[in-house]
Amino acid sequence: RVKESGRNGIQLFTPAMGEEARSKLSRIEELRRAVERNEFVLHYQPQKNISSGQVIGVEALVRWQHPVEGLLLPGTFIPLAEETGLVVLIGDMVLREACRQARAWQDQGLPPLRIAVNVSARQFLENSLIDQVASALQAAGLDPQWLELELTESLIMRDVEGAIERMHALKELGVSIAIDDFGTGYSSLSTLRRFPLSRLKIDRSFIADIPEKAGDMAITSAIVSLGRTLELEVVAEGVETEEQAQFLEGAGCEMFQGFLFAKPLPASEVGNLIAKLVAQTG
Ligand code: C2E
Ligand code: MG
Ligand code: MG
Ligand code: MG
Repeated sequence: RVKESGRNGIQLFTPAMGEEARSKLSRIEELRRAVERNEFVLHYQPQKNISSGQVIGVEALVRWQHPVEGLLLPGTFIPLAEETGLVVLIGDMVLREACRQARAWQDQGLPPLRIAVNVSARQFLENSLIDQVASALQAAGLDPQWLELELTESLIMRDVEGAIERMHALKELGVSIAIDDFGTGYSSLSTLRRFPLSRLKIDRSFIADIPEKAGDMAITSAIVSLGRTLELEVVAEGVETEEQAQFLEGAGCEMFQGFLFAKPLPASEVGNLIAKLVAQTG
């Protein structure tokens, strides 16, 4: 817990504080500064259609360009951003930048790509979310059909009725919704069908041990059939080997995202990659 004191809220260091609390507080201060200075950059990981070989979309993944420590992955700061609420501001920048970039690629003549943006729990529950999304789309001049929001299964299962309502409001803007890290929560078929979804993303943990773990292969196949039953597209995350890709194709999963095809890359590199693919396949 952050200690409140004085007019301006937060008192930084007191002698009684343990080392851990101090370093956490200084991290929070750094993160706050990073928001003010916008030290965040987006990398984009392509999603590939296995049979056509085409890139159908990209996922925007935030990184913190830390002035001293270099490029930091979201796992090192998103939890703290979530805890402090700064994730709402970071999420807003991410949305704006992702929409701007998607439009910029279109303006460069690339075939339109769906851009997926991760939405955190705090951000999803914030009343301003719908306005944030609408405003990001408008500022970028991006047609909403190209934006997809990724919500985690655990987030939407926390308050099913509330999530359904919010998701309908988002759908009304014209954006699509995917469930991220699917398979790790406890959604029932009957609950799932109530959400206005377009896509399920199979959690990386089920893909990682294919083909060694028969159980994971069974779960993966089951998610793919669930997707078919609900008429949802299914994307597998974290595909690293040819064998995994082949298993997925055999199971009927058409789309994947993973190091096998591409790591998350800076915008310019993704643009080049896609331009090259277009030149090859037409
Ligand atoms: P996620 O949304 O499930 O994103 C996929 C993560 O898996 C990314 O990690 C990506 O680099 C990694 N990945 C993709 N393919 C492979 C693979 O083949 N092998 C392995 N080992 N990893 C792979 P990253 O970029 O570190 O992001 C981690 C998580 O941070 C994301 O998981 C997402 O939950 C969160 N995150 C990222 N960007 C944002 C953001 O803008 N806002 C919020 N709220 N959360 C974000
Ligand atoms: Mg995601
Ligand atoms: Mg995921
Ligand atoms: Mg994940």
